[in-house]
Amino acid sequence: MARVTIIGGGPGGYEAALVAQQLGAEVTVVDRDGLGGSAVLTDCVPSKTLIATAELMSDMTLARDLGIHFRDHQGDPATELYADLELVNKRVKLLALAQSSDIESRLARRGIRIVKGTGRIDADKRQVVATRAEDGGEEAIENDAVLIATGARPRVLPTAQPDGERILTWEQVYDLDDLPSHMIVVGSGVTGVEFASAYLNLGSQVTLVSSRDRVLPGEDADAATVLQDVLERQGMNILSKSRMESVTRSGDVVTVKLTDGREVTGSHCILALGSIPNTEGLGLEDAGIELDEGGFIRTDKVSRTSAYGVYAAGDCTGGFMLASTAAMAGRIAMRHFLGDAVIPMDLKEVAANVFTSPEIATVGYSQAQVDSGEVVAETLRLDLKGNPRAKMQGISDGFVKLISRPGTGVVIGGVVVGPRASELIHPIALAVSTGLTVDQIANTFTVYPSISGSTAEVARRLHHVE
Ligand SMILES: Cc1cc2nc3c(=O)[nH]c(=O)nc-3n(C[C@H](O)[C@H](O)[C@H](O)COP(=O)(O)OP(=O)(O)OC[C@H]3O[C@@H](n4cnc5c(N)ncnc54)[C@H](O)[C@@H]3O)c2cc1C
Repeated sequence: MARVTIIGGGPGGYEAALVAQQLGAEVTVVDRDGLGGSAVLTDCVPSKTLIATAELMSDMTLARDLGIHFRDHQGDPATELYADLELVNKRVKLLALAQSSDIESRLARRGIRIVKGTGRIDADKRQVVATRAEDGGEEAIENDAVLIATGARPRVLPTAQPDGERILTWEQVYDLDDLPSHMIVVGSGVTGVEFASAYLNLGSQVTLVSSRDRVLPGEDADAATVLQDVLERQGMNILSKSRMESVTRSGDVVTVKLTDGREVTGSHCILALGSIPNTEGLGLEDAGIELDEGGFIRTDKVSRTSAYGVYAAGDCTGGFMLASTAAMAGRIAMRHFLGDAVIPMDLKEVAANVFTSPEIATVGYSQAQVDSGEVVAETLRLDLKGNPRAKMQGISDGFVKLISRPGTGVVIGGVVVGPRASELIHPIALAVSTGLTVDQIANTFTVYPSISGSTAEVARRLHHVE
């Protein structure tokens, strides 16, 4: 029986453990902070649970447009809606802990051994040394293969030190009992923009400090422009081309100093400055495992590192830092090592979503790659404001965009901006991964009325008459 040890129990680690056990291996997972990892305990799951409340708040503000009013118990019109952040955060944390414990039970039921503690690779790669959390004792675990899935953590700067109360990393926001009166979010990448949108919808005043000329510099430019427009219309103060120099706190006031000398004051600040990999202290260099200049582990398309028998998956390898890609890379590693059929990772097929209001979902090649000439393709965008279902639901912002090969009409990418774009991207992702053409999408029935009708309509407009 092959022996596999996995260091890190996030999606990269626990999904790999399940596959390895299914394929007949004897599996041990060494995990430091709780099964499910940061994805479940501090990042993905808590943020999306918070956003679920923010989204409902946003929907409820639309109620008036759809003919709904609120009344208080005396029958008088009620106009104020507020979020009880203590309750919201209690729910967030309970849900995260329950999911972590579900994952732990699932692994245990499948006979996977869980060691709670910190792991490192011994210079002889056949051993992982685990320092147990309960008693500090060390245990050497013999292996035939090791998977490193230790994740990443928030980047902090010496000039902007989190205090856990008012200057916060994204892991610390769930301890807030009161809604911040003025949240300053530093960083306009996905994490920063998601929190900025969430607190805006929850009722905070929000200032977003963005070093670029528009939010979400890595995303589809049309989508980012729509989002920025919506956020500004809703009252968010977006400081573009503004670089943070320092963040300090004096009593209840947080001051963000910008490099051009301006200062912004607020009640709280979230630092969303990117992630650094958890790759120190693991004995990687001694084991001959190559890292890139950012400290991320270099891997190939089947998750192999430069050391024989050592694989790596997830955020500690950089690239697309998503729970879904971490899980896929972990599964691929185990299939490769245990001799099962392997489909190497193809990042062109990754569907990703920005959970703002509206959401932005993308898959495949991007408009930027088409515009730069990197790929030859046609793109077409159709705004949702003409879609009958969108009109009925009071949705005015958003669009569907398809990217297809000019000759064959094969769909190679797409973008959806709108409510629940994360759900609407799936048929486009399916088209990209299976090579469907615009005609095949156009000829597939959609429900009338539906937002997905717009996807079919874009496909129809991309049809070429020979
Ligand atoms: C705010 C935020 C929101 C996000 N939202 C989404 C989303 O909506 N969708 C999505 O797909 N992705 C999302 N992500 C990204 C997602 O959370 C990560 O990509 C995912 O957590 C990566 O999984 P992982 O297994 O590589 O690492 P992690 O989830 O970080 O797990 C790593 C585990 O390894 C453990 N560990 C580390 N070092 C050691 C050691 N030496 N010994 C033992 N254990 C160790 C850690 O304690 C942790 O339990 C979000 C990220 C952030 C920051």
